[in-house]
Amino acid sequence: MENLRSLLHSIDDKGYKAYKQLQGTYHFNLFQLTIDHVQGDPFAQPSRISVQISKEQHGIPPLFWNQRIRQTALEDFLGRAVHAAIKKHVKGRRGTGRSGEMEIAVNGQQVLRRNAVLLDDDQLEARLLFALPGSGRSILAGEAAEMFFNELPQVVESSLIWTRNSLAGMQQHIEQIEDQNILRSQLKQLKGVAFVADGSVLPRYSGIDDHPLQGGVPFKAPEELKCNVTLPHQGPVSGMLIPEGITLIVGGGFHGKSTLLQALERGIYNHIPGDGRELVATCAEAVKIRAEDHRTINQVDISPFISTLPGNRATNSFSTANASGSTSQAANIIEALECDCTCLLIDEDTSATNFMIRDQRMRKLVPDSQEPITPLLFRVRELYEKKGISSIIVTGGSGDYLAVADRVIMMDNYQPFDVTTKAHQLAGSKPAAETRIPFQKDHQRRLNLAIKPLPRQREAKIQVREQRLLEYGRERIDLSQVEQLVDRGQTEAIGRILSWCHQHHPEQKSGLQATLRQILEQVEQQGLDLLLPWKAGHLALPRLYEIAAAANRLRNKP
Ligand code: ADP
Ligand code: MG
Repeated sequence: MENLRSLLHSIDDKGYKAYKQLQGTYHFNLFQLTIDHVQGDPFAQPSRISVQISKEQHGIPPLFWNQRIRQTALEDFLGRAVHAAIKKHVKGRRGTGRSGEMEIAVNGQQVLRRNAVLLDDDQLEARLLFALPGSGRSILAGEAAEMFFNELPQVVESSLIWTRNSLAGMQQHIEQIEDQNILRSQLKQLKGVAFVADGSVLPRYSGIDDHPLQGGVPFKAPEELKCNVTLPHQGPVSGMLIPEGITLIVGGGFHGKSTLLQALERGIYNHIPGDGRELVATCAEAVKIRAEDHRTINQVDISPFISTLPGNRATNSFSTANASGSTSQAANIIEALECDCTCLLIDEDTSATNFMIRDQRMRKLVPDSQEPITPLLFRVRELYEKKGISSIIVTGGSGDYLAVADRVIMMDNYQPFDVTTKAHQLAGSKPAAETRIPFQKDHQRRLNLAIKPLPRQREAKIQVREQRLLEYGRERIDLSQVEQLVDRGQTEAIGRILSWCHQHHPEQKSGLQATLRQILEQVEQQGLDLLLPWKAGHLALPRLYEIAAAANRLRNKP
């Protein structure tokens, strides 16, 4: 600590580059500080520091992190604690550019595994961005000393050093998240794809704010779909079980259909206490499917949905740099099937109508033989019966789906009702089959994941400026429509996984999907640090589906 103090003293007012001398490790009273990387100027990405705290010093009982899920919950909790302490104790801007800022990467409403706080049997480590203060290009050592010797210890001591009395909140956080995970893992046994607990608050504050809507109408399961589960910490919980099969969500406009579906989309993740969706669990292999015109498609067999295209273009290895609504939605499904998804989540609001349905009158006018598209309507049952893939479909406009649904939930004033019996009475016969090309799982598909530097750069960079926009060397991968991607740390991890794949498995011997799965398993075992050659704390764990989604949207030549 004294070393750092005198070093700082000696570089006061010098050129900013002299900060580089600070790199190294220092012993503070209750923790060790490591300055891992020093920024080049006050406008650059802030310096990276980390603090290490021994287990004797942090005082958190090992029981709190003896399983992966508990550890993730605990790390999430600690990250939030650091974040709150920074807000409280750090003055912030002092000098040029970002001078004086301190920052830790934290989760939003979801609890994702990250690498900002890491706990193991030896120590607890937190990684921060720390903008070393400067005035113009000269060092403000006094301000830096204030940050290191006053603010940082206050942040660490109030967020990472625990006493017996202060552990209750931490325990509650861990137990709630563990319960959610167990709820999700019980779904299979219950033969369900999703569960929404009574009392859940599904609507969000706004379209761009993931916090709960104050005063939202709490969820209440319809009698017919009611299910009771028992969770280890919370005990008995009642709610609505969406069974495997085809489920429709119907209802008038603005009655909460999309809100329910969106909660189910996010139900693949655990949520923090107070979110309102703590006990909304969807099977981990559920994938949102939507139309996404203009996306790129690389050699995907969309023939089960679209048999030929104008000019007799074959569709069993279909590529385009500019997909239409229907071709994009078809590709999205086929790609999800390649990754063994078990449930499709579809909202008519974001679907291509001609991909979803074709009604009797249109079939009379344009005979099936002239229409290359087989709408999902005609294949959704087969997907379930032959492949075990369930679907949850929001539809307010078309009654055709009533005939293929196993059950129908009507949203009325934000409340669900089971209207299956009535729906089946009205439905009429199942739509007549068309000639069909079977779904084939193309495990062998490989993609070119090469990453090339921009013209004037020596090395290709992976950067994320917007949550769902991945800069992958000179390519930009547009993930804006990949709706289950929730954190920019996931987006960057995806970029790193793709380039890892390119570097270490250039041949993708067992196919793209299997290779990505293998890398992801490795990351899950060894941690996100595997993906970076330097120490940083801004990554978050993505799912296989979102990694594959990025690979599939890369505009490289095959
Ligand atoms: P739909 O898809 O049926 O047209 P939405 O799900 O888009 O309806 O919901 C319409 C509006 O109602 C949205 O602004 C949403 O936030 C709000 N809303 C949804 N569910 C609830 C609820 N349970 N309580 C209060 N407001 C809700
Ligand atoms: Mg809607």
